[in-house]
Amino acid sequence: MTSMLLPAPPDTLGLLALQLGVLVAVRYLLVSTAFAWWAARRRPQLYRPADPARRARLARQIRREIGWSLLSAFLYAGPAAVALAAFLNGGTRIYTDLADRPIWWLPVSVALYLLAHDTWFYWTHRAMHRWPVLFRTAHAVHHESRPPTAFAAMAFHPFEALSAAWLYPAMVFLVPIHAGALVLVLVIATIMAVTNHMGHEMFPRSWVHGRFGRHVITASHHELHHRRYDANFGLYFRWWDRWCGTDAGLSDCV
Ligand SMILES: [Zn+2]
Ligand SMILES: [Zn+2]
Repeated sequence: MTSMLLPAPPDTLGLLALQLGVLVAVRYLLVSTAFAWWAARRRPQLYRPADPARRARLARQIRREIGWSLLSAFLYAGPAAVALAAFLNGGTRIYTDLADRPIWWLPVSVALYLLAHDTWFYWTHRAMHRWPVLFRTAHAVHHESRPPTAFAAMAFHPFEALSAAWLYPAMVFLVPIHAGALVLVLVIATIMAVTNHMGHEMFPRSWVHGRFGRHVITASHHELHHRRYDANFGLYFRWWDRWCGTDAGLSDCV
């Protein structure tokens, strides 16, 4: 069992974690910078305020968001390195040959990973808002940004980052997923985390206020969470919020 979970010697595992940390950090910087640039063109008052004092405050906020996010990148890399090392030694349920599973399993596995993450996030997020001690300790960092920018995508206290960092790495030992489908899950997770904080709604209004937006969380939904604190706790889908009476609808400010 130990050899399956830790197939690489600790020094190799440490190096792998470091390399993955750099990869996650670079991915974060590239994606956040790209979407911040786009959002700044749509909402210059958010990213390039005319008032020098507000500009200085925003620069401090973005530096803080980047600092916490880079720390999170290296924390995420720890469990990911364990999973990657196990994968390289054939110890996970990740498969690379499409013939290994029916083709319908591809979308089902992507949905299962996203649903598991969404469920875990909703309940831990809601718990952090319900208990003040948890909020102050683990979640206040994420809400220091008012309003957040695209750089707040991974701006979490280490406790909050670690509370979710293990989920996908643990799932690859349990739920079969094609390597390409896993990459798709990570791409969706990254893009949604960035765009939901960038202060600009990237989807057409007809989508956001239509069937798509009734189910999928976009910037209009998460921005309201950053204003109100007491609602809209979901990550990818609005279902838990709706089932639990915590859905406050959409913001018109993004
Ligand atoms: Zn947020
Ligand atoms: Zn929150």
